[in-house]
Amino acid sequence: MARAVVNGISVSTGIAIGKAFFLNRSLSSRLPRQTVPSHMAEDERKRLVKGFADAVTELDAIRAKVPEELREHQLIIDSHLMMLKDPKFQKSAIKYVDDLNINAEWALDKAVNDFEKAFGALEDKYIRERMQDVRQVALRVQAKLIGGEANLRPVRGRVVLMAHDLTPADTIELEVNKLMAFVTTLGGKTSHTGILARTLNIPALVGAEELENTVVDGDLVIIDGLAGKVIVDPSDEELEHYYTLQNQFDDYQRTIMRGCQLPAETEDGYRVHVHANIELFEEVAAVIDNGGEGIGLFRTEYAYLNRTDLPDEEELAEKYSELAAIMSPRKVILRTLDLGADKFMSHFGSLDEANPALGLRAMRFCLKHQDMFRIQLRAILRASVHGNVSIMFPMISGLKEVLQAKSAITRAQQELREEGIPFDENMPIGVMIELPAAVMIAEILAQEVDFFSIGTNDLIQYSIGIDRTNPHVSYLYQPLHPAVVRSIKYVVDAGHRAGIGVSLCGEVASDPYCVPILMGMQVDSLSLTPQAIPGIKRILRQLNMQECKQLLKEVLSCRTVARINRLVTENIYKKYPEELTFFASLLDNDDIAG
Ligand code: PEP
Ligand code: MG
Repeated sequence: MARAVVNGISVSTGIAIGKAFFLNRSLSSRLPRQTVPSHMAEDERKRLVKGFADAVTELDAIRAKVPEELREHQLIIDSHLMMLKDPKFQKSAIKYVDDLNINAEWALDKAVNDFEKAFGALEDKYIRERMQDVRQVALRVQAKLIGGEANLRPVRGRVVLMAHDLTPADTIELEVNKLMAFVTTLGGKTSHTGILARTLNIPALVGAEELENTVVDGDLVIIDGLAGKVIVDPSDEELEHYYTLQNQFDDYQRTIMRGCQLPAETEDGYRVHVHANIELFEEVAAVIDNGGEGIGLFRTEYAYLNRTDLPDEEELAEKYSELAAIMSPRKVILRTLDLGADKFMSHFGSLDEANPALGLRAMRFCLKHQDMFRIQLRAILRASVHGNVSIMFPMISGLKEVLQAKSAITRAQQELREEGIPFDENMPIGVMIELPAAVMIAEILAQEVDFFSIGTNDLIQYSIGIDRTNPHVSYLYQPLHPAVVRSIKYVVDAGHRAGIGVSLCGEVASDPYCVPILMGMQVDSLSLTPQAIPGIKRILRQLNMQECKQLLKEVLSCRTVARINRLVTENIYKKYPEELTFFASLLDNDDIAG
């Protein structure tokens, strides 16, 4: 293979250089497409039914092998099993055998194409990603039909794993210690592959659309998890450059890991708490290993996604209690459900909303579905006796929502009291500040809660009026827009005047260009992706609070975002030229380069 570059989305950082090993190329290119005489249609129907049944047997066997610590994956296997057992799915394929006189493999392909067309039109990122599950399920059946195995071939030696897609079932079967990196054709930012790679601490790219057209087994490849690209058959100069970069990255990792358990204290003694944002229980080990002092944001949505039923109180209470116990005495902030917009739950179906980000999501959704909310609140309260648990409400737009949510907690507490079930009477209650309305009434909200957590991912979206998932306006996603900087400062000051702690849990907290300004505001804690903790802690330990306050003062006097970006870039380059190579920033690349 001649030199080529394949772009992808980096979901786990780092550099890997090695031989490509394909796990499962797309089966679709190998599927026989034949018309069959009508007297043979019955055989094709039977083959389809048997294909589905064999796929169920295979997946059942994989499910039985799921180790305890990967139980989150099991839920997704369950959802695949449910699709396989859904009679409507089989029927839609059988109908093609009957109507078009085509073979079983082709008929199933056409049925899945129909689903993809119907759902693809919805322009909803989450649904598009779930459509990949339907495709994966169909591929498992098709592998059975052509007599192939959907199972994986054994990995030989240490390899860079390439796959059309990696299903949770695949990841359970993998010999993970042999993997230097992952690259998949499918997948988006929220796909499971990324979480697995981050847990294993190896580079990973998803959504590398040209992968299967460009790379073959045994090709020498460089995975650049910093820039999000695969370089196939690199030149000698490229290899030399990347070996050097890899060594620098490894050295840098070793350096930051050495200091990561030290407290995050500026050189002049200002202490800030560094917590982690996680979605899955499996990420807990990475939080502790990377020096996370607690969990500042547990996104509880995951337990509700990829399934058609709702989790019950037992299941949630068990999970939250385990998390609280394992992290204890460290803090765990459980955020109540933030569903809607880009995260939708099959149990309720997709809401027909013209502007989902402005629609029935998060707190609004929970207050509308009080039965479901009650179950989650009871589960959180039950977990509160097993560790240091706080609760936090997302997307608060006004005082009434806070009061309603607190009343729901009071009712759940009363029920538990009557049932003799223990809970922490003093569990802290916080709110996320993610809407400009919440910023402006921060003083009022501060009277009602124990802490604030500023969710800049949403606050930026709602302040500047741009969809955070829309690439056409991503150039306007400016974390240091003067309005955003002023909003954050306003909230920190309002919280402190009321005597409550203020944390920041958006991606801004993982951005080295933004952190000095946040420190200048004297935020009490930052909550970041676990992987970013060691690097940010190291930067924090080299900061000087007086300099941060001075920088903030200058930033607040700037009239444009470009000026602010230049100011912080100059400032941080002066101080940490080497670390910045290994960080992605939310700031505009032109500003950083210039
Ligand atoms: C945020 O909005 O900044 C946040 C942390 O929440 P999420 O990214 O889950 O919306
Ligand atoms: Mg948010």
